[in-house]
Amino acid sequence: MTFVSDSTPNSGLVHDGAFTSLALVPELLNNLDSLGYHAMTPIQADSLPAMLAGHDVIARAKTGSGKTAAFGLGLLSRIVVAQFRVQALVLCPTRELADQVAGEIRRLARSLSNVKVLTLCGGAPFGPQLASLAHGAHVVVGTPGRVEEHLRKGSLSLDALDTLVLDEANRMLDMGFQAAMDAIVRETPNSRQTLLFSATYSDDVRAIAEGLMRDPLTVEVAEAH
Ligand code: ADP
Ligand code: MG
Repeated sequence: MTFVSDSTPNSGLVHDGAFTSLALVPELLNNLDSLGYHAMTPIQADSLPAMLAGHDVIARAKTGSGKTAAFGLGLLSRIVVAQFRVQALVLCPTRELADQVAGEIRRLARSLSNVKVLTLCGGAPFGPQLASLAHGAHVVVGTPGRVEEHLRKGSLSLDALDTLVLDEANRMLDMGFQAAMDAIVRETPNSRQTLLFSATYSDDVRAIAEGLMRDPLTVEVAEAH
């Protein structure tokens, strides 16, 4: 199923409805207001209800349209803080993007008590990552190569994973991360929710989506012409 929504010209950030229409806990709603997020962007308005209902979602919208908060709110809504295990994994193509995504999820989560978000990226030393993993985390944001390495070493377990996010899936495929992504997915429970975000939706993205997702809803915010 595909919903194509028409955003108003030239802005992916045109407001499209109140966050209060969503089944989000009050702590998250209050925090959104303090972050200055007073209304949903179109991609948030179109994808969040499906995510919160537990569907797998494929979402495509241009850069700068608020995709991070869309999946961030989706995954945070499913975290059980008292269960201190990795419940959400966000895979990103680069360390810079992973750091940005982790920062946004931390900002969104700051009103929830003690949600621990950890980044695991290549190019960073292993030692501190091992120490952080030993302390535990609810959310891991990382690049596919390094996440796979931690799985191989046994320093990361995804047995309790509830939400898997592939952010910028097209770029991860372009960068040759397909094998690492497949290996990671094999370590996750089949019961997981899978969310795929992308600025473009090519044939190879479609192919991996078909392999990974269960009855996904596709949400696209059309580019203004
Ligand atoms: P994308 O991943 O689609 O490229 P981002 O998630 O990086 O976009 O969001 C772009 C910017 O929009 C960020 O600075 C973010 O803080 C801001 N933003 C996201 N959602 C909202 C919202 N509902 N209201 C106001 N600003 C928002
Ligand atoms: Mg993004």
